[in-house]
Amino acid sequence: MSDAIVVDAKTGLKSFNTRAGKASHRIQGKGYAVITDESLKTLPPEPAGAVFNAAEQDKYRKFKEARAGAADYVALEGEFSEYLKDVYSADPVPRESLDDECEILVVGAGFAGLLLWYKLKQAGFTDVRFCEKGGDVGGTWYWNRYPGIACDVEAYSYLPLLEEMGYIPTMKFAGGFEIMEYCQKMAEKFGFYDRCLFHTTVEKTQWDEDSSRWTVITDRGDSMKARKVILANGILTTPKLARIDGMETFKGDAFHTSRWNYNIELKGKRVGIIGTGATAVQAVPELAKIASELFVFQRTPSSIDVRDQRETTAEEIETWKQEPGWARARRARFAKISAGRTAMRANDDYLAGKVKDFKERKQHAEELTPEELVQKQLDTNFRIMEQIRARVDAMVEDPVTAEALKPYYPYGCKRPTFHDEYLPTFNSPHVHLVDTAPRGVSHINENGIVHDGKEYPLDVLVYATGFQWMATSTFNMIVGRNGVSLRDKWQDRGTKTFLGLHSHGFPNLFIISGPQGGGGSFNFTNAIEEHADYVVWMLTTMRERGASTVDVKEAPEADYAEHCRQADMMTAPLRDCITYYNGHGEAEPGSLAYYGGGRWHKFREQAQRSLEPYIFD
Ligand code: NDP
Repeated sequence: MSDAIVVDAKTGLKSFNTRAGKASHRIQGKGYAVITDESLKTLPPEPAGAVFNAAEQDKYRKFKEARAGAADYVALEGEFSEYLKDVYSADPVPRESLDDECEILVVGAGFAGLLLWYKLKQAGFTDVRFCEKGGDVGGTWYWNRYPGIACDVEAYSYLPLLEEMGYIPTMKFAGGFEIMEYCQKMAEKFGFYDRCLFHTTVEKTQWDEDSSRWTVITDRGDSMKARKVILANGILTTPKLARIDGMETFKGDAFHTSRWNYNIELKGKRVGIIGTGATAVQAVPELAKIASELFVFQRTPSSIDVRDQRETTAEEIETWKQEPGWARARRARFAKISAGRTAMRANDDYLAGKVKDFKERKQHAEELTPEELVQKQLDTNFRIMEQIRARVDAMVEDPVTAEALKPYYPYGCKRPTFHDEYLPTFNSPHVHLVDTAPRGVSHINENGIVHDGKEYPLDVLVYATGFQWMATSTFNMIVGRNGVSLRDKWQDRGTKTFLGLHSHGFPNLFIISGPQGGGGSFNFTNAIEEHADYVVWMLTTMRERGASTVDVKEAPEADYAEHCRQADMMTAPLRDCITYYNGHGEAEPGSLAYYGGGRWHKFREQAQRSLEPYIFD
C-alpha cells in the first residue's frame, strides 16, 4: 500500500494522505476593498409611492419575452473538457484504487462535507469517508478564485463554527481566498484530511438490494461499498459555457471563471468577459485594474446594490473574544430576516443584538389576502429596483451605457449583486460595455467576438457564464432500487423528494441542498447546517433502532412535492423573469429551489416526531 493510504493499527480504519500541493504561487487574491468615497456607497432615495403599474409591468414583460429561449449552454465534454481541468492543484497524489467498505461515504469536501464531518464525529460516527473532485477542501471556494471574489452574505454569519475555530473574519464581506483558507483550517483542526480522497470524482453510485449497500465508482478506479451515501456536492457545481458559434476557433487564451488561469498574463492585454452575473460583477472592477482594454459582453444587467465593505474593528474583536455564543447568536438572528435585501445589507446593530429589530414593523388594520400581499411585495420590490436604476444614472457618465446597465425585472428574480466599484468602472476610457441584449453573444472567430457585424479582437476571453443549478443529485449517476436512476425518476415523474433530503427508491441516500431542500435562509451555510443536523439525526435514529436501511414512503413524498409546487406558484410573480433559478423560465414549478421558508421546518419537525414518513428495515 502506498503512503497515500495507511491503515490505523488501533481502529483498523484507513487514513488518507491525498491532499494535493498548490499548482502555482501565482494563485492569490483579495475580495472587495474598503471604499472611502461615500458617494459610491450612497443610494438615491426610494421613489415614495411609486407603484408597479400596468405600464411598468409591460416594460418588464417585454424585457423578459425578448430574452425567452436565448439561454443556451454547452456541457464541458469532449473538446470543451479542458475547461474543467483543475488549475489550482498539483497533479493528483498517486494511490491504489479502493474496493473496500465504509459505513458512510460523503461526496464533496466543501462547507457541507466539513460540517458533516464535524457533526458526525461528535455523534460518534467514525467510519466516514469523503470523495472530493478538487485537490483540497473548500468546494465553491476551492474552484472560484477569480480576482475580487468575496462572500455576499456577511462573513460573521456566513462562516460556520467561528467560535469552535476561535476565528474572526478580517472583513465584513470576507474575500474568497480567506474563506478557502478558513475551510483548510477547519479541515486541519477537525482531522478531516485523513478522511478524504482528493482528486476523486464519483462517477456512479449504485444500490445493491441483496447486500443493502451502495457501490461507489470513481474516476480513480475505485469501487467502494458504503452503507450510507450523502451527497454534499453543492448547488452550483458544474460550470457551463454559453454555446456560441465558432467558439472552438478562438486562437487566444480562454477559461471559465471557476478555473481562473493565473498563469495567463492579463497585464496590458485586451480582455473580454462574457456574462454579467454575480461573478462578473466582482471580477470586472479587478480586471479593469489590470487589462489594457476590457470588453464586458452583457446580455442582461444585474441589479447592483451598495456593498459598504468594512474591516472588522478592534472593538468587535475584543468584544467577541469575551462573548461566548456571539457567532451562533448572530447566525440565528441573520436566519430570522425574511427579506433578501435586508438580510444582505446586514444591519450590524441588529445582528449584534444591540437593537431588537432594525425597522419598525407596520401593523395593518386588516390582514392582507395572499394576492394583496404579493401585489404589495411587487410594489415594494419595484421601488427597490427604481432606486437601483437611479443609482446607475447617478454613477455612470455615458447615458447609453447607463441605460444598458439598468435591469427591468423584480428584485431578487435574478441573483442580486452588491458592489461599489462595478458601475463607475464603466466610466474608464479603456472599459467598454458591449450590449448584446436581448439574445447575447452569438459569434466568435479566431480573433475574438463578433457582435452586430463588429469584431472585438481579444487576447484573452473569460467565460463568466455560470453553472448548472440544482443538479447536485443527478450529475453523477445514481441508480437506486430496481435499476432506476434518480435522473430518470425525476424526468419521468417530476422532481420528487421528501424535504429535499430523501427520494423514495433510494434508501440510505441523503441529499444536502438539493432540489426542494429548504430550511435555510439567505445564508446558504445555514441551510447546509440544517441539512447536516437532519442527516446526523437520521443516522443516530437508525443506530438507536438497529435499522440498517431507511427509505421514505411514496405518499408523504408526493404530498411534500405538491407542497413545493404550490409554494413556488404562490410567489411566482416575484420571480417572473428569465433566470437560472427557474431553469431560464422552463422548469416545472416546485422542481428546483424551495420557497416555503418556515414550512419546511414544520414538515421536518412533524416527520421527526412521528417517524411516519419513513420505512426502517
Ligand atoms: P450566472 O449564471 O449568474 O451568470 C451567467 C451570465 O452569463 C449571465 O449574465 C448570462 O446572461 C450570461 N450569458 C450567458 N450566455 C451568454 C451569451 N451568449 N451572451 C452574453 N451573455 C451570456 O453565473 P455567475 O457565475 O455570475 O453566478 C452564478 C451564481 O454563483 C450566482 O448567482 C451566485 O449564486 C453565485 N455567486 C456568489 C457569489 C457570492 O456570494 N459572493 C459571487 C459569485 C457567484 P443572462 O442573465 O441574460 O442569462
